[in-house]
Amino acid sequence: MAEAVYIHIPFCTNKCYYCDFNSYVLEGQPVMEYLKALELEMEKTVKNNPPAQIKSIFIGGGTPTVLTPKEMEYFFTSIHKYFPQWDSHIEFTMEANPGTVEKDKLKVMKEYGVNRLSMGVQAFQDKLLSYIGRIHTVEEVYQSIEAAQRIGFENISIDLMIGLPNQTEEMLKESLQKAFQLQLPHFSVYSLKIEQNTLFHTLYEKKALALPTEDAELQMYLITMEEMLAKGYNQYEISNFAKEGYESKHNITYWENEDYYGLGAGAHGYINNRRHENIKGIKPYIDRLLKEKTLPRANQFDISIEEKKEDMLMLGLRMLDGVTFKQYQQLFKEDMQVTFGTQIRKLVQAGLLIEDETGIRLSKQGIIYGNEVFAEFISL
Ligand code: SF4
Repeated sequence: MAEAVYIHIPFCTNKCYYCDFNSYVLEGQPVMEYLKALELEMEKTVKNNPPAQIKSIFIGGGTPTVLTPKEMEYFFTSIHKYFPQWDSHIEFTMEANPGTVEKDKLKVMKEYGVNRLSMGVQAFQDKLLSYIGRIHTVEEVYQSIEAAQRIGFENISIDLMIGLPNQTEEMLKESLQKAFQLQLPHFSVYSLKIEQNTLFHTLYEKKALALPTEDAELQMYLITMEEMLAKGYNQYEISNFAKEGYESKHNITYWENEDYYGLGAGAHGYINNRRHENIKGIKPYIDRLLKEKTLPRANQFDISIEEKKEDMLMLGLRMLDGVTFKQYQQLFKEDMQVTFGTQIRKLVQAGLLIEDETGIRLSKQGIIYGNEVFAEFISL
């Protein structure tokens, strides 16, 4: 039974130049219809798969905080109606962007149970922010965080990015230093990826994007890891750092390959060994639910036991604690070495994986070259 819920709000004030997430510029979008369709998706979903006590809810996007306070109230009421039973330590995260979190919205969020904010900050240089198409300023970062803390949000995470065009090591160090001054309990740090169908991809093809070299980007990641460690943030996953007890429960659900509901346009879900992906377009999503009265699936497929084994290793190894032999044995009633012994030996010899009597985990080299490790476990 799923204990985690992901809900996608696919609207943003504008489109960042690197973004290939399922998000659309807000202006002119049928937001209320979308929220009604979402409510119907919740109703149909829990009818097929009644929820257990919910341990985490994550509202992602897009920018969920572009909803107005009234729209938020409608949306949160639906969540409470269809997922009524919450664990007393529930983690309820909402993604937010600086400049979109006014006091009245924050109050509604708090009132309906949101207790964690994940804020897309990316960098602490206005120039860099404008190069990547972010519309917020550094000043707005401070204002938004202060406003949230004044309302009583204490569990706040911010996202930072490395490998940005024109980003230097000094800029990254400055961003980290400013981030640390905020004394937040959690940070996520992601490398820029040039994705198809983005403005950056077009510029990249034209060789008009001043990206740091691979070595420079690697150096930025190493600096990030060192600085985080020095400031007492535990790197618990390749891109995530937290003070003790503030690791994201919701994201750990994904890495531990556990079930979760996935609702909203383009959302993915995983329930009872079946994964699904919803249709991405706003109008088709709304029509599928409100007119055709069916679930808005673009794709769904059953996960075989072999895929489940691969997923456990590929996802579990993202966490720096790795995967234990015991966990694997309990789930699959077989020894991990029987299925993956060859790959494990190869990766240990290459210095990418550490094996001890309890299980396997990434070495420092493995953290840096994680994709090489994960690739070994795809398709037996
Ligand atoms: S705010 Fe986030 S989801 Fe929206 S366009 Fe920018 S990167 Fe994409």
